[in-house]
Amino acid sequence: MPTEKNNNSKSKQLKEKLFLKRKSTVKTFTEAEQKKADKFCEEYKGFLNAAKTEREAVDEAVMVCINAGFSEFKAGKKYKAGDKIYAVNRVKNVIAAIIGIESLQKGVNLIAAHIDSPRIDLKQNPLYEEAELAYFKTHYYGGIKKYQWTATPLALHGVIIKSDLSSVKVCIGEDDNDPVFTVTDLLPHLSQEQYKRPANQLIKGEELNILIGSRPFKEETDNASAPGTELVKLNIMKLLNEKYGLVEADFLSAELEAVPAFKARDIGFDRSLIGSYGQDDRVCAYTALKALVDYTKTPKKTAVVVLADKEEVGSDGNTGMKSAFLKDFIDELANAEKIPLRTVLGNSKCLSADVNVAFDPTFPDTTEKLNVAYMNYGVALTKYTGSRGKAGTSDASAEFTAEIRKLFDENKITWQTGELGKVDLGGGGTVAMYLANLNIDTIDVGVPVLSMHAPYEVVSKGDVYNTYRAYKAFMQNYK
Ligand code: MN
Ligand code: MN
Repeated sequence: MPTEKNNNSKSKQLKEKLFLKRKSTVKTFTEAEQKKADKFCEEYKGFLNAAKTEREAVDEAVMVCINAGFSEFKAGKKYKAGDKIYAVNRVKNVIAAIIGIESLQKGVNLIAAHIDSPRIDLKQNPLYEEAELAYFKTHYYGGIKKYQWTATPLALHGVIIKSDLSSVKVCIGEDDNDPVFTVTDLLPHLSQEQYKRPANQLIKGEELNILIGSRPFKEETDNASAPGTELVKLNIMKLLNEKYGLVEADFLSAELEAVPAFKARDIGFDRSLIGSYGQDDRVCAYTALKALVDYTKTPKKTAVVVLADKEEVGSDGNTGMKSAFLKDFIDELANAEKIPLRTVLGNSKCLSADVNVAFDPTFPDTTEKLNVAYMNYGVALTKYTGSRGKAGTSDASAEFTAEIRKLFDENKITWQTGELGKVDLGGGGTVAMYLANLNIDTIDVGVPVLSMHAPYEVVSKGDVYNTYRAYKAFMQNYK
């Protein structure tokens, strides 16, 4: 076996010069950088705990904007360089921007992320009683492994619009004194038949029923002879009526989302990782927003961050990335300068801020080792997503990929390439193609994740921090 004992061997020098190298954040971070990354991630964990739904993420994002001196966008107003603005679309989609020194003729630097995450939604008529237990019927949202959502504490978040159009905000299960809810699973002793099901049906959609109570309504007099029916359901409705003034029909106009009730925590003896629900994609949303608001000078080009809803179900709808909201917002800015929208879009550049799969040593065969992103090796630059023959991807051009690569290298960002899994195994998409379809140069840049779409997703603090730095470099220094 040849050895490389001589450190100055010609081959070693040549390899150093010619081979692609990956850089590890945990090996190259200075102590000061490590401290900065850890501090950044403490605030990030706070965001994760406060923003478990798209609505809450918008509320938090607006707060971050206001605290950084942003004011609400007014259509028709002429903005000048350095002005900081935000616009909210139907409480589930938000855009924040800093007006640049250069004309919009040159386009904008845009970062697009999504703030919805896989979860379990209540059906519109959810409440029922069976065997004197009360439940909610659900319809899951996004790509989940359904069995992962059983036997775990769930919190209920969302909004109910009553018949008089007044609104009730719901958040139960996050405070330590709150009750939580859960989907029950079958005991192993009786699972012989369940085990024969294919794994994607181990728990079926109609079995994701959330247990919400068991005490019946009691008649005031003891002489109520025959007990009535649906008294547990009645008792639940009575409690909801007392607390929120609800009647059952109000569920028909509600958006209630069951999400894991636990909080973001450090993972590992060395605290190098973060475990939390909803990191896909509040990790890219938070780092993008912070990269914008932490910017202290006036950018050359107008910098825009859009946080959209509905990515996990295809980006359709008026709060998703396919909505006209972003285009119209840019059009308003373009109008003020009397520049055609198409000129602005054609000259704009976009980072599609979305997570990618991280190599999992427990499942090494699902990813291809040369092209997968690794935990701790920095932000992942993903030229194309899609599946099976690059279907459903915008595939960034070599030219734009090179520009971003150069930008990251010049700004000393620790970054790596990433591809979502082996060619024939599956794949996935991001919002990149919807931005690219607007004639904007777009590429995916985001954090590698373990256990993506699970109730508890894992990221590395070093990668989160480098993603923040990468987005900042793009907004500040991209020509
Ligand atoms: Mn996702
Ligand atoms: Mn995502």
